[in-house]
Amino acid sequence: MNDLVPPIWTTGTTEVFKTGTWRAALPQHIRAPSPCHAACPVNGDIAEWIGRARARDFRGAWEILTRHNPFPAIAGRICHHPCEAACNRGGYDDPLAICKLERFVGDMAIERGWAFEPSAVERAERIAVVGGGPSGLSAAFQLRRHGYRVTVFEARPELGGLMRYGIPSYRLVRSVLDAEIGRIVALGVDVRCGEPTATHEELERLRRAFDAVYLATGAQRPKRLPQLDYAQPWAIDGAEYL
Ligand code: SF4
Repeated sequence: MNDLVPPIWTTGTTEVFKTGTWRAALPQHIRAPSPCHAACPVNGDIAEWIGRARARDFRGAWEILTRHNPFPAIAGRICHHPCEAACNRGGYDDPLAICKLERFVGDMAIERGWAFEPSAVERAERIAVVGGGPSGLSAAFQLRRHGYRVTVFEARPELGGLMRYGIPSYRLVRSVLDAEIGRIVALGVDVRCGEPTATHEELERLRRAFDAVYLATGAQRPKRLPQLDYAQPWAIDGAEYL
């Protein structure tokens, strides 16, 4: 019998077998990510870093957290934390406060000035990243950690993308934003703000000058409700309102 296809279990009883076919059931071991890990959009190793934090090794927790996300203090403020909705503990009493813990560890890293380890190797390949928002900066971070030479081209005057130009400062204080971006730039990322890549010719120029180009131009167009007449003066996009 194929082990992966369970038989049809019954709970029917007979004179002889009081427990249906359950009498022969054995627990099945499967390897799978924890529900919070599976729900996290940045694939965070949540159980692992919380384990470190629980042992009060906050530096170790931060290092695990930033393996997949260089913005823990930012995510700890603005993420809608689907990890908590998936948390097993929620079925017992309340889910773990993962988002708040992430913010705590991220803030501690800023307060104590923890920096990313530079790459042990320096590679010759040059990568252009178009867009200095969360995606472009995360790509720059991962590429620098692997020793690639990275230049970020950002159309606006400052890095941050929607984190800076879409989220108001009362939701995301600029000192936190600047600190987490600054730590990535300090890895040796070449930054060119105020340099849009808007035309096919400009993109071609980058393709010739660099070994690879990563396009991270963002998802700035709001999703609109099909039923709503946006020509009306009372209809306004959420991001615009903020
Ligand atoms: S709060 Fe953090 S761990 Fe939870 S889903 Fe968001 S980024 Fe992932």
